Amino acid sequence: MKAIKVNRARLKAAMESISAVGATPRGGLHRLALSDKDKEARDMLRDWCTQAGYPVRVDRIGNMYARRAGRHEGELPVLIGSHLDSQPMAGRFDGPVGVIAALEVMKTLDDLGIATDRPIDLVNWTNEEGARFQPPLLASGVFAGAYELEFALSRQDNDGVSVASELERIGYAGTHPASFSISSYIELHIEQGVVLEQAHATIGVVSGFVGIRDTRVSVFGENVHAGPLAMHLRKDALIGAAQMVLAAQELGLANAPDARVTVGRLSVPSDSHSIVPGRVDLVLDVRHPDAASLDALQAQLEDRFRLICAKLGLSVEFEPYWNYAPIVFDPAVREHIRSAAEQHGYPCLDLPSRAGHDALNVAKVAPTAMIFIPCLKGISHNEAEFATDEDIAAGADILLAATLAAAMK
Ligand SMILES: [Zn+2]
Repeated sequence: MKAIKVNRARLKAAMESISAVGATPRGGLHRLALSDKDKEARDMLRDWCTQAGYPVRVDRIGNMYARRAGRHEGELPVLIGSHLDSQPMAGRFDGPVGVIAALEVMKTLDDLGIATDRPIDLVNWTNEEGARFQPPLLASGVFAGAYELEFALSRQDNDGVSVASELERIGYAGTHPASFSISSYIELHIEQGVVLEQAHATIGVVSGFVGIRDTRVSVFGENVHAGPLAMHLRKDALIGAAQMVLAAQELGLANAPDARVTVGRLSVPSDSHSIVPGRVDLVLDVRHPDAASLDALQAQLEDRFRLICAKLGLSVEFEPYWNYAPIVFDPAVREHIRSAAEQHGYPCLDLPSRAGHDALNVAKVAPTAMIFIPCLKGISHNEAEFATDEDIAAGADILLAATLAAAMK
């Protein structure tokens, strides 16, 4: 079939209209979850969907769904969308691109009179950002069973206002079940990094999410007076920790481009200018998209840290405290995205996501994949965030093709 394109002018106009709700003077967006501006954006989306003939339903955690019927209404729907909420004083592309493109996909199918076997549901997830209510990805977490509904409804902002009361106040405390079965989920989003930009690629076929492992590392030496004891007799835990920080950088670089290794916390409990540190605590953060490589890198780092300590007469203890396994997206949905990009002639490449998205939750319950488009210099969560009209339209074309493929039996 020939490559179908979305309506550029309509997509651009819709992006401009939705961006005006909560617009900041410097071209950004301030639209915190369940605020008055979020209500305004939700109302706008609801009206557009209703007018286009896509009935809107709202679930108990405020997620909005708009349905384009399929030939077989009993079939599980293909879910497409993202989020309309933003970080404070942030950009107008992070989230809305995926929602507005989803609406454009459904309208283009209507324009061309294309019927799909499965229904297509557009989704606007509640509180993706976690800026106003912690944690982020809250309502997709309820959808995927990661959080109880009552937990999500009871979250409070800094003023003690709850999600439940704000949903009630803005008219989005829905009655639809907060979880239901879908056949697949596809989310279009800006990359928020520079991989696509540097490779001059238009479309990112997102392979999944990187795994993250954090370990508390305690280095033990001996607290002694900074004066009397000769240098070569001291057991300085901070010297060991300093070498560990450098080893972390070295091994991170040695495992480029996929690995990230960071020591972002370090404390010296003795905290005195005249005590040779007898103990240092640090946190080692290791990230990698591949589970086996993540394990290997972690083992390599721990071996190196032990060696450093052995040479300095120190000892070391490791305490794991955060471990998120990498998520690998569904191969079939990724293939829909890749072949669509090839059919359209858009340069594409595979890359993992290094930021959290609702797809991370949905991937646990349904075949899921994401499409990335470039954003200028990787700047995001910032008023200067920018994506071109052409790239947004290209992303919408790919969302259209992938959705169509997923919605046919
Ligand atoms: Zn986002």
